[in-house]
Amino acid sequence: MLRKDTICVHPSRCQKLPYGAIATPIFQSATFVHEGVETESLYSYSRLQNPTRAALESRVAEMEGGEDAIAFATGMAAETTLMNLFESSGHIIAGDDLYGGTLRLFRHISTPSGLRFDFVNMESAENVREKLKPDTKAVYVETPSNPTMQVTDIGAVAEIAHSAGALLIVDNTFLSPYFQRPLELGADIVVHSGTKYLCGHNDTLAGFLVVKKKEISEKLRYHAKTVGACLAPFDCFLLERGIKTLAVRLDKQAANAEKIANWLRQRPEVKKVYYIGFPDHPGYAVTKRQCTGFGGMLSMEVDSPETARKILRSVKLFQYAESLGGVDSLVTYPMCQTHADVPEDERLRRGINDRFLRFSIGIENADDLIEDLRQALENK
Ligand SMILES: *Cc1c(COP(=O)(O)O)cnc(C)c1O
Repeated sequence: MLRKDTICVHPSRCQKLPYGAIATPIFQSATFVHEGVETESLYSYSRLQNPTRAALESRVAEMEGGEDAIAFATGMAAETTLMNLFESSGHIIAGDDLYGGTLRLFRHISTPSGLRFDFVNMESAENVREKLKPDTKAVYVETPSNPTMQVTDIGAVAEIAHSAGALLIVDNTFLSPYFQRPLELGADIVVHSGTKYLCGHNDTLAGFLVVKKKEISEKLRYHAKTVGACLAPFDCFLLERGIKTLAVRLDKQAANAEKIANWLRQRPEVKKVYYIGFPDHPGYAVTKRQCTGFGGMLSMEVDSPETARKILRSVKLFQYAESLGGVDSLVTYPMCQTHADVPEDERLRRGINDRFLRFSIGIENADDLIEDLRQALENK
């Protein structure tokens, strides 16, 4: 079997391209000619399928070790389509440290339409067992979680979910298939915000659902073609181009993040660094078992809101912006941005206070990034 960094460039399922092209052409066509009155054509209409999208989907499916992958216009479009799978009744157990948009979907769209949710701390798989109900349809996990970097044992949660006949869904945005392959660990469906590491350049939005079983993929494709939030051909091209460099980008981002996490930890202004690569991180043993790298994300709590604001004001290389996973280093103030919609008491319980910052480490030189943080911290 080919190794992961090779598959990023040369997926084995890749089709031979017209004219010997190396990059998949952008088939900017809404509709396709039928070859005969009763013959089925491979492509009919781009909401259902498009050759550029098909090439991308097959690449992502192979990278995650899935039977099928479906590309959506955004990560939230993928998640919203996924929720249709549960129709309008049933119970879902979800992590309590989720991406803000996912929480908004579950609380304000899925709950009013009939689904019931329990939110639990996913650091212990046993918390999931305690909440199982006869109609539990799925367990929804983000690991590492956003933004406090909690780690979930995917295999352990899969076993508990399956014992109750529920599906395990894992949002794999933070580590990407290069560092973590949830389907191999027991998950049934993987969710991606392709906007992040898979795209990798902060220049387009995308989302994916990757599934292990054909039967689930058929249902999801039915919903996907009906909802119609599919990824446009040009964006498919950008995603495919991004994925070709996923391995080199992530190796560099992970190496940079490790260096920066260790540096931040020594600073007197920094009270706590949230980084899954620290041997004293509570999920370290699980991470070593289920991942092949620690990724490029870290968060920290500093000594005062003034320090947090000073950093945001003073950084020059790091840019104060939402999102993550791209080649440019970004710093986020979750309280005001990604998690602004989370009720205050819950936000504070999770440690997301006015001293909390999240970093997405890019591919710049690590020493320059450290120098940038030093000058920001020491700025008067
Ligand atoms: C960004 C993000 C999403 C949502 O994806 P969009 O592409 O912005 O719609 C979902 N989950 C995680 C973990 C994310 O970081």
